[in-house]
Amino acid sequence: MTRLYYTDALQTTFSATVTHAEPAGTRWHVVLDTTAFYPTSGGQPHDTGTLGPASVVDVVDDAARGVVHVVDRALTVGETVRGEIAWPRRFDHMQQHTGQHILSAAFDRTCGVRTESFHLGTTSCTIDLAREVSATEIAAAEKMANAVVWEDRPVSVRFADDAEAARLPLRKESLRTGILRLIDVTDFDLSACGGTHVPSTGMVGIIAIAGWERFKGGSRIEFVCGGRALASHQRLRDCVTALVRQTTVAAHELAGAVERLQTDNRTANKTIRALQEELAASIATGLAASAEDVGLFRRVIVSQPGWDAVALKALASALAAHPGVVAVVTGTGTPAPLVVARATNVAFDAGACVKQITSALGGRGGGRPELAQGAAADADQILAFARESVR
Ligand SMILES: [Zn+2]
Repeated sequence: MTRLYYTDALQTTFSATVTHAEPAGTRWHVVLDTTAFYPTSGGQPHDTGTLGPASVVDVVDDAARGVVHVVDRALTVGETVRGEIAWPRRFDHMQQHTGQHILSAAFDRTCGVRTESFHLGTTSCTIDLAREVSATEIAAAEKMANAVVWEDRPVSVRFADDAEAARLPLRKESLRTGILRLIDVTDFDLSACGGTHVPSTGMVGIIAIAGWERFKGGSRIEFVCGGRALASHQRLRDCVTALVRQTTVAAHELAGAVERLQTDNRTANKTIRALQEELAASIATGLAASAEDVGLFRRVIVSQPGWDAVALKALASALAAHPGVVAVVTGTGTPAPLVVARATNVAFDAGACVKQITSALGGRGGGRPELAQGAAADADQILAFARESVR
């Protein structure tokens, strides 16, 4: 079986004879005498496209049968089919894969760090480097890689047996034996690889580092090449444009603007908390004065719409500062927040009270005898239940 992509990655159409075809679930497995379809291998995903009337949905490299095309309908052994590769997907893979060779070689040359593995994902690609690299080292490798792209150096394919390959300056020794396929980025990188690559580095367009992180004692570098770099730039531009519109500062001032917003927000929250506590103390004084006497204690059962759990806790605590008071306070929401507190001189279990309310109304919560909190149902149901049970 001839693999056309081995020698010509730009060939998108071909004619072939079906040598094997068998049903596999709802699909068919088809083998041809010759193919331009690249099967998933070496970190690069498979091609898609058509074989005559059939759509190619997957391509796998089978040790026994070679390239197996997974198609959506039956083809007959012996028939001649026209194959066509979906070019945008293939070209994208070629840009990313060639970019990876160049970037790995650039890391090798600028800071002597080798690439352990490569992954070509649907939106970005990663290489894993053998040791951690700094931002400065990454910038140096990125700069060198793009210089090689813009020099538009030829990328050629040649074959060598393992003895011959052992004498060549391969970036990474190959584990394969027999005939090796070598990808030669002129005067820059020589690597054994079975993937598809562009014929000259200029076709990669650009190699942009998208991010990096520590990974297994080394660094994982995320990068995008060519069309993906443009798509990434467009997404970032739209994001920055929206932020600039919202913050009314220039793009380069965004980080500072967000930091100021966060500081302002923290300050405002502190002020709100302080005011809520003052307000809670003031409201509590009024409510405690008119608390309903139920014999063993005086109760305050109240809803404070719009207050969150923290503010309600401040109010309940302020109420419990008044001798003889048991306070049940709730706010808005479903479930509604609930805080129960009691003055130190009252024999009442706030924790048990919260448990009783939340188990009766379907919620959760608990706490200490003097102060407990939870959430359940809504404010009206909590108020009604508390008026019946807290006595
Ligand atoms: Zn390759």
